[in-house]
Amino acid sequence: MKYLVLLVVLVIAFSLWKSRREPAAPERTKAPQPPAPQDMVACAHCGLHLPRSDAIVQYGAHYCCADHLRAGPSAP
Ligand SMILES: [Zn+2]
Repeated sequence: MKYLVLLVVLVIAFSLWKSRREPAAPERTKAPQPPAPQDMVACAHCGLHLPRSDAIVQYGAHYCCADHLRAGPSAP
C-alpha cells in the first residue's frame, strides 16, 4: 500500500511537470515572420531601384534623392 501511494504521487508530480513544460515548446518553434513585400520603383535619373515609400515623386516620376529630383529625368 505504501508503494501504491508513492507511485500515485510520482505520477501526479510527473504530469504536473510535463504540463508546465508543454506551453513553452510552440513558442520556441515559431519562426519570425518575414517583412511584407514592398513595391519597388526605379529612379528616373539614375535608375536605382528603391521602395516606393522611400522615393520622392514629382509629376509621376520617382527619384531616389533630392539631388536627382533637381537634376530631373535622365535623357534616354
Ligand atoms: Zn537617383
